[in-house]
This record gives sequence, structure tokens and C-alpha cells, in this order.
Amino acid sequence: IPEIALAGRSNVGKSSFINRMIQRKNLARTSSKPGKTQTLNFYIINEKFHFVDVPGYGYAKVSKKERAKWGEMMGEYFAEREQLRATALIIDVRHKPTEDDQMMYDYLKHFELPVMVIATKLDKIKKGQRKKQLKMIYDVLEMEEEDTLIPFSAETGEGKDVAWRTMLSHLKL
Ligand code: GDP
Repeated sequence: IPEIALAGRSNVGKSSFINRMIQRKNLARTSSKPGKTQTLNFYIINEKFHFVDVPGYGYAKVSKKERAKWGEMMGEYFAEREQLRATALIIDVRHKPTEDDQMMYDYLKHFELPVMVIATKLDKIKKGQRKKQLKMIYDVLEMEEEDTLIPFSAETGEGKDVAWRTMLSHLKL
């Protein structure tokens, strides 16, 4: 079954993204305690594809050992995933992507898969600020042409159709 991997700093709105995409209130819930043993969660969306939740990053205080463990697990996952079709990085449209976001984007780019950047919490900025924020995100991440930046709001559902269309095209469904 084809998969799309989702990454994002804790509290960025990853589970809200999943829930909005599939119109559920509480299916996806990430517990994002720093230092907690991290595992990969699989969300079975339907018989057609799975979302794979890439465990949180961006914990300044996580030990070297934890980081190494994370890297090992991710490396194994990405290396063996023939069914992985695309990745999505969830970021907060209000802020400049953090160093962790930038690192994660570069990490995802490594695997020669399309990367979707979901700029979520769109409802929290003024309409007049959108263009500027999106351009800033595109520039800071040094996004590449084959990647898609999708403005999104889990609150209003804006961007949902574009996100679905993009995902389905990557999944070839
Ligand atoms: P996760 O830790 O990345 O899974 O983050 P959550 O999905 O739990 O979201 C963290 C907080 O941000 C929650 O209080 C959500 O209600 C809120 N949130 C997530 N997405 C949006 C959005 O698009 N708009 C608004 N206004 N709030 C959001």
C-alpha cells in the first residue's frame, strides 16, 4: 500500500492536518513529549494508502543518544520504503521556518521523493500577509520547483482540495 510520510515539529498542527484531511475529529493524536521513546505511527486512511507519522523533531534538549536513535530509525524507514511515494513537511505559516524545519526539509529532499510543504494555520494570519509569508517560507527552505507549497488551515479547511489533489497525484490514485 502506498504511503506518504508526514513530518513536523511538535504542536505545529500535524494531527489537525490529518484529521481535517480525513474529516475526523480525533483519529490522529500525537503525543509529543520530548525524550519519549519515539516510534513510527501508521495511520491507515483507507484501503488505498497510509499516512506515516514521522516522530517529532526540534527538541533542543534531546540528548545525542536520542538523536542518534532517531536518525537510525529514520534511516531504516526511508531506506526500505519502496511504497513511500511522497513526504510532507508541516510548518506554521506564521513563522520563519526554524533551523529544525530547514534540516528536516533537506533531510526529506535526500530521498528523491516529492516533498509537499504544508503551511498550516493559515487562518491565523491576515489575508494581506499571505503572499509575503509564503514567499519567505519558499525562500528560507530553498524549495525546489518540483516541490509544492500548500497554504492550509485545519480550522477552515482551506487548502484541503489542493493538498488532496497533490497527494493523489503522487500516489497515482
Ligand atoms: P501536533 O502536535 O503537530 O499534532 O499539533 P496539533 O494538531 O495537536 O495542533 C496543535 C495546536 O494547534 C492545537 O491547539 C490545534 O487546535 C491548533 N491548530 C492546529 N492546526 C490549526 C489551524 O490550522 N488553525 C488554527 N487556528 N489552529 C490550529
